Amino acid sequence: MSKKGLQIILSGFSGSGKGTVVKKLVEKYDKYALSISATTRGPRDNEVENVSYFYITRQEFEELINQDKLLEYAVYSDNYYGTPAEYVYEKRNAGYDVILEIETQGALKVKEKCPESILIFMMPPSIEELRKRLTDRGTETEEEINKRLQQAKRETKVMDRYDYLIINDNVDDCVELLHNIIVSEHKRVENRLELIEKCKIEINNLLEGE
Ligand code: 5GP
Repeated sequence: MSKKGLQIILSGFSGSGKGTVVKKLVEKYDKYALSISATTRGPRDNEVENVSYFYITRQEFEELINQDKLLEYAVYSDNYYGTPAEYVYEKRNAGYDVILEIETQGALKVKEKCPESILIFMMPPSIEELRKRLTDRGTETEEEINKRLQQAKRETKVMDRYDYLIINDNVDDCVELLHNIIVSEHKRVENRLELIEKCKIEINNLLEGE
């Protein structure tokens, strides 16, 4: 792997299942690296420190902001969430496609900073299903669920600024869909300039050799 990897931003309503989908995607294909965010919210029972998130205090988070160590950050449900920049740069330079699973404010900030980023928004099959998933996972209180639904309402206002909108009806199908989108993005002409140059040189060499 040598060519710089792509920067893929995945957003979606809380409960859309995007966490499960990206986890499966990176397990299945070794060309992807998943960015690990820093957050001031506490860990959930099923989460692992330094794998799911870096759990830090508000003060520590504000130090990261002041030291300009975050690619982006946002406040979501009263907590800070942010992407440490170094890991993303390192992995992309090593040729990995880096996936940032982040909410919409941060996603749009990254797109402004790095316009080559690919923005993908994931939806559940229906809004009814969204409420059901949030309730069934049993990790949030009713108040927290309502906050997340309010947040989802705000997120609908920027969905049309994304490059792709995908529906998570079935996890495995959604993993393949995401993978296929990324594979296609690699085929865009702007990501193939080296191949075009190589092609020109080879044709010239061929003609000169005739
Ligand atoms: P959760 O608390 O459910 O893990 O995450 C809440 C929201 O924060 C989700 O929409 C998730 O995608 C988003 N999020 C996670 N990490 C980051 C980050 O580094 N930056 C931003 N802007 N959002 C994040």
